[in-house]
Amino acid sequence: LDPVAFAGDSGAVLDFLAEYYRDVDKYPVRAADLEPGRLRKLLPEAAPEHGEPMEDVLEDVRRDILPGLTHWQSPSFFAYFPMNASAAGFAGEMLSAGLNVVPFVWAASPAAAELESVVVDWMGTLLGLPQRLLFSGGGGGVLQGSTCEAVVCTLAAARDRALHRLGHDSIIKLVVYASDQTHVTFQKGARLVGIPPSNFRVIQTTPASGYGLTADAVRAAVDSDVARGLVPLYLCATVGTTGLGAVDHVRELGEEARRHGMWLHVDAAYAGSAAICPEFQGYLDGAELADSVSMNPHKWFLTNADCCCLWVASPGALTSALSTDPEYLKNVGTGGKKPAAIDYKDWQISLSRRFRAIKLWVVLRRYGAVGLRAHVRRHVAAAKWLERTVAADERFEVVVPRKFSLVCFRLRAGFVGDDRVDELNRELLAAVNASGRAFMTHFVVDGKFVIRLAVGGAMTEMRHVMDVWDLLQANADQVLRRYQL
Ligand code: PLP
Repeated sequence: LDPVAFAGDSGAVLDFLAEYYRDVDKYPVRAADLEPGRLRKLLPEAAPEHGEPMEDVLEDVRRDILPGLTHWQSPSFFAYFPMNASAAGFAGEMLSAGLNVVPFVWAASPAAAELESVVVDWMGTLLGLPQRLLFSGGGGGVLQGSTCEAVVCTLAAARDRALHRLGHDSIIKLVVYASDQTHVTFQKGARLVGIPPSNFRVIQTTPASGYGLTADAVRAAVDSDVARGLVPLYLCATVGTTGLGAVDHVRELGEEARRHGMWLHVDAAYAGSAAICPEFQGYLDGAELADSVSMNPHKWFLTNADCCCLWVASPGALTSALSTDPEYLKNVGTGGKKPAAIDYKDWQISLSRRFRAIKLWVVLRRYGAVGLRAHVRRHVAAAKWLERTVAADERFEVVVPRKFSLVCFRLRAGFVGDDRVDELNRELLAAVNASGRAFMTHFVVDGKFVIRLAVGGAMTEMRHVMDVWDLLQANADQVLRRYQL
């Protein structure tokens, strides 16, 4: 690595990105309807034999790559959940990538491992998590790449804790519970740790509970399994479900889990960021009954991808499932007894790992809790405005009351009848997305096609939400006209 070339190439990339952010709202938000395979046709068959100038590379990015991207950082990106980038998140990412250290064991980068344990405690405190999930209270946390990885690790910990008691052959008796709104990552995780697919319970939620999972529903499923000689292993509660932003009743579910010695995981991937504001911390009430909690700062916490915080009440349960002990990695941290000397390889799937802590630390330092709360509240206020405005338009209905910054709505059935209302809404969504001026995605609940509008982009302001409402109205007029309504 030549420091002079490093500065030149990085400077060119910074200039390129500064220009990109200046113009990002000029691109069609969703990649235009391009032919699959377009890029392969534009690029050479093989990698170049000789290095090329950075300017040429960036020119190809501009010409060939950008037109094929969906612009997640556009202020009019309202699809899925946000994937925040920010100047602080980018600066932190540069430090992480630039220093490029690998804190897999404590001695491999002591300050990186220690910063991670400090930052996860800071985050847990800001979110109002109970002490028992923090290092300072006997638990602890780790930064992983995704909720999916975090869930696999906790499932493995729960499985081994149970099998240690029951014997390995009992794996066929272990049952896991989630709701019909739980992220599919949980099913994948359960499969990966060897839970028989027939022991995966998907419990129905209802509009009456706002599509949140209740203890009564879990109890019925658990009692029936116990009566058949099965062993309840793990219950996944979600705060802010992917489809609708619904909230499961953490305290009730925690009490139910405790009754059966089940591991309770709280997945707050998206909505966990809101818990930095005291007015949202009530949704995590009961977290002291959880064995683990996770949230993704890379969604709505101004932290560039990737970054998932996982906290566990019993680090020993996690590390006994995930530890390896090769001679060449032995060091003062081995065994993870001292919180200051953690071998983070034993808290995750992979061995090599990124210095994510410095990125989250820069975000926390640059914005402070006050700045981060303002970021969340700005989006919640815009979503609240949108929800009110949609509800006031007689053509639309809000499908489920908004809790955070996700608004779920659709054109009412009254206009075309139940049999064609989904088609009408599909057309509306397709028309808005095809305009290139905004991008939203959909969900289906109780057989109804629902439009989801997730406010949360780092550059998204009230005016962008107002603009997308104008766009929705204009397209609704056109779609309804086509149906001659
Ligand atoms: N859980 C919830 C509630 C989510 O909304 C998502 C993604 O949107 C995930 C889990 C998956 O997160 P990841 O992509 O970090 O695995």
